[in-house]
Amino acid sequence: MYINGQWCNSSDGETFESINPYTQQTWALIPQASNDDIDRAVQSASEAFYSRWKDFNGTERAKLMNNLADLLDENAQFLAEVETTDNGKVIRETKNQVHFAARGYRFFAGAANKIYGEVIPLDDRELFDYTLRTPLGVALLIISWNSPLSLISNKLAPAIAAGNTIIIKPSEHASASSLEFAKLVEKAGFPPGVINVVTGDGKVGKYLTEHPGIQKISFTGGAETGKRIAETAARNLVPTTLELGGKSPNIIFEDAEISKAVVGAVAGIFAATGQTCIAGSRLLVQKSIYSEFVEKVVEKSKSIKLGNPLDPETEMGPVANKQQFDKILTMIEKAKSDGAEVLCGGNRPQNEELQSGYFLNPTIFSNVKNDMQIACEEIFGPVLSIIPFKDVEEAIEIANDTKYGLAAGVWTTDFKKIHYLTNKLEAGTVWVNTYRTAAPNAPFGGIKNSGYGKERSLEAIKEFTYVKNIMINFSNEERDPFSIKV
Ligand code: NAD
Repeated sequence: MYINGQWCNSSDGETFESINPYTQQTWALIPQASNDDIDRAVQSASEAFYSRWKDFNGTERAKLMNNLADLLDENAQFLAEVETTDNGKVIRETKNQVHFAARGYRFFAGAANKIYGEVIPLDDRELFDYTLRTPLGVALLIISWNSPLSLISNKLAPAIAAGNTIIIKPSEHASASSLEFAKLVEKAGFPPGVINVVTGDGKVGKYLTEHPGIQKISFTGGAETGKRIAETAARNLVPTTLELGGKSPNIIFEDAEISKAVVGAVAGIFAATGQTCIAGSRLLVQKSIYSEFVEKVVEKSKSIKLGNPLDPETEMGPVANKQQFDKILTMIEKAKSDGAEVLCGGNRPQNEELQSGYFLNPTIFSNVKNDMQIACEEIFGPVLSIIPFKDVEEAIEIANDTKYGLAAGVWTTDFKKIHYLTNKLEAGTVWVNTYRTAAPNAPFGGIKNSGYGKERSLEAIKEFTYVKNIMINFSNEERDPFSIKV
């Protein structure tokens, strides 16, 4: 682990195994942080915040962030290999994600010396009032296993640009890339204690979230864990950003450009083996084109190339761990018994070379009702539910009939429909004629059970700062000590 600028094992020597989901073999031993390690990490981040890091102005913080971005780009192939070995995501995506992370650091480096307050003209001209956006202190960043370096960048870049100090806690299912990343943090020149990485399971996360030294929590993971963290944070009055799961609708209208919409539907669910929070796991298709469109989606899905995720030709890798694999298979069986019809997949592939990994065939269900478990619960796997709709109003009703609100996709060439739908859909991101596209300067984050708060864009700076109001008296007048002056 990386604590106070030094590399260490757990103080009690405890480790856990990281399993490569393509081979099911242990490939790394990761330290399980002890409470002593965590106390030390929080203390070092706290000391760094109140001493060393305060001496760095925005321009100086930006310089280190740009160094880090350059190092990420230079080491993208290696970091992608580590991440792919850890979580099974195909290298053609993990490599892109490292470059995307670098763009995130550059975007927020540009913002670091532009975190302005406001001058507020008060009625009483002898009072001068202005605001400052001030860092919160020690920010705890807890992330899931599906895209570690990209998720870290979403949180760390605005947090560090705003002048906070950091503790990163990656998932126990994919910690290796975060530790390799810490080597680049050190090389980029960040002072000791400013960015720390501690590893371990949910117990480590829990101890960290309860720690009195934490002044901000930014969490990415499941909704149930998010709720537990929100409860703890509420007790300690710690501000929190929650990036949780989704059950996003991808809506195809009869006037869509069909070939692009087919690609969008497939990319929405089968990219990253469906293991993305934004997965378009409910495909809503207008009845007038239902058969034709579904046939095309099934045909394309059947041609997806499964294989070694380290091979750049591979399109879909294994599911990331056994727990996920078992959960997905159980949900597939439940969908079958609920009456959904399997159009393709629903099982493991038969090929010899895929037997060692947690592979599942791309799975598509039709005959799905929006209240079946398969359409309500997040699966986080390569499983698509197709639901027909009659018209715009019915599409909106089905799309919004979910406890989640992370993303939605709309495919149509009718601008009136686009305007109407984008206003009505309950989601933090609405994609139109595209799906699963992102930019560091476009805000991201959900509503309802998908969480609250924003990542990326200048909105993210607000998550890691508070507004301090400053009122200066320039008058010589004697004031009444027993009445508030307004
Ligand atoms: P998870 O909730 O099981 O774990 C996430 C992290 O929380 C891990 O680091 C884990 O160790 C830690 N943790 C577990 N219990 C904890 C506790 N009691 N206190 C503090 N920390 C604790 O989620 P996961 O399986 O790693 O990730 C999958 C989920 O993440 C999915 O629901 C997915 O949609 C969501 N996700 C959301 C986004 C987003 O930006 N909205 C992005 C990626 C993934």
